[in-house]
Amino acid sequence: MRHIAIVGSGPAGYYTAEAAQKQWGDDVSIDIFDMLPVPYGLIRFGVAPDHQSIKGVTRRYEQTALAENVRFVGNVKVGQDVSVPELQGLYDAVVLATGAPRDREIGVPGDHLKNVFGSAGFVGWYNGHPEFAALDPDLSGHTAVVIGMGNVALDVTRILAKTRDEFAGSDIVGHALDSLMGSKIRRIVVLGRRGPHQIMMTPKELGELGHLSRTAPWVNPRDLPDVGDDAMLEPGIRKAVGHLRSFAAIPESHRADLPLEVEFDFFAAPRGLIGDGKVSAISVERTRIDAGRAVGTGEFYEIPADLVVSCIGYQTSPIAGVPFDERAGRFANDEGRILPGLYCVGWARRGPSGTIGTNRPDGFGVVELIAQDFPASARKAGRAGFDELAERRGLDVVSFDDWKKIEEAEQARARDDAPREKFVDVDDMIRATSLAD
Ligand code: NAP
Repeated sequence: MRHIAIVGSGPAGYYTAEAAQKQWGDDVSIDIFDMLPVPYGLIRFGVAPDHQSIKGVTRRYEQTALAENVRFVGNVKVGQDVSVPELQGLYDAVVLATGAPRDREIGVPGDHLKNVFGSAGFVGWYNGHPEFAALDPDLSGHTAVVIGMGNVALDVTRILAKTRDEFAGSDIVGHALDSLMGSKIRRIVVLGRRGPHQIMMTPKELGELGHLSRTAPWVNPRDLPDVGDDAMLEPGIRKAVGHLRSFAAIPESHRADLPLEVEFDFFAAPRGLIGDGKVSAISVERTRIDAGRAVGTGEFYEIPADLVVSCIGYQTSPIAGVPFDERAGRFANDEGRILPGLYCVGWARRGPSGTIGTNRPDGFGVVELIAQDFPASARKAGRAGFDELAERRGLDVVSFDDWKKIEEAEQARARDDAPREKFVDVDDMIRATSLAD
């Protein structure tokens, strides 16, 4: 029997478990660790609450999770409750699928000011991540600035723009919904340091922004390259740029009747955040593109900003004793191998890019590496060994059955038009595991 520990129960973790099952059938035993008592990582805490169809992929992960030889080991912090070397002593292979939960830093003066958030915190707040549930952003100001031209910037902009009715069917947590419904924000500026041809937004997600009831996005036609230049773009981005062109064509008279302005500001690099304790403006430098890069022109201006959310990408959290590539913000690895016996997958391996499905081949790739490195099992103690250690340390491990009780309790307390009301406190999650006993 081969014993595999997967650290992280998001998409990369479950796809790796699925691949290991396919490779070794009943001859493998897989423990999937998570620091929280609830599984699915990015799907629960990253994917936007109004994108329920994307979240539906958890049904597939559940099929994997319910197999006899797969176990969820929740509420265990690897690197704290148990170390990576300890797991290596117990399992043939340890696969780090810890994602990229930390913000890439914007690194401009004033980034510590109040009401300036990275997307990890802001998204975690509206998605009910226990670490960020108490963030309490102040939405009483007039203007929000969202930095970045990727899909996370779109998520944040859309969440700030939606009405109560537009949240129907979502699982946005109650505290965020209440706060958003009291929001006084009337203008959202989406700031991109490069131009329309360099956006990272995908067409479906950008198109959604054109269907919101309170706003019609504004793109300055002067920022758009000649239509003919779109021909050289890859089809996805060409389609996305098409949406920008349609936003630019919306008549001012239509926009004037709507209560919320959403404005794209291209060729605009953030240079500093200004405020006395709390942010009140952002200093921006106009840029031009030189060999694909944004280069400052020396022309500066300020945008009033009562809330700033920087959505400029993520990095992996280092784990003590695991080689880390600081510059790339992920574990140092060669195609997923950190060293024989220790591997990484998903964003912890590649950095924060690609869709959820991109993680699937990663899982199969890493299982292939494990098979090459260990043609036979090293006869480690596996889950029995971990259970002994957990008992010795008094760890309060949450199982998949426990999670199902948490899920049931979350469904039972949902608003009428919502699939669940998430617990945002770890103690409440743990309490829910004993409710049905
Ligand atoms: P992203 O796609 O890499 O976009 C990051 C954006 O931040 C880029 O526009 C980048 O501009 C900008 N940026 C980086 N550093 C900056 C700086 N110092 N100053 C100003 N701007 C800066 O990252 P993301 O939006 O966090 O998304 C992460 C991944 O998750 C992506 O693969 C995304 O597609 C995926 N995702 C998908 C969905 C969905 O499918 N519904 C939803 C959310 C996220 P430059 O290009 O100039 O560097």
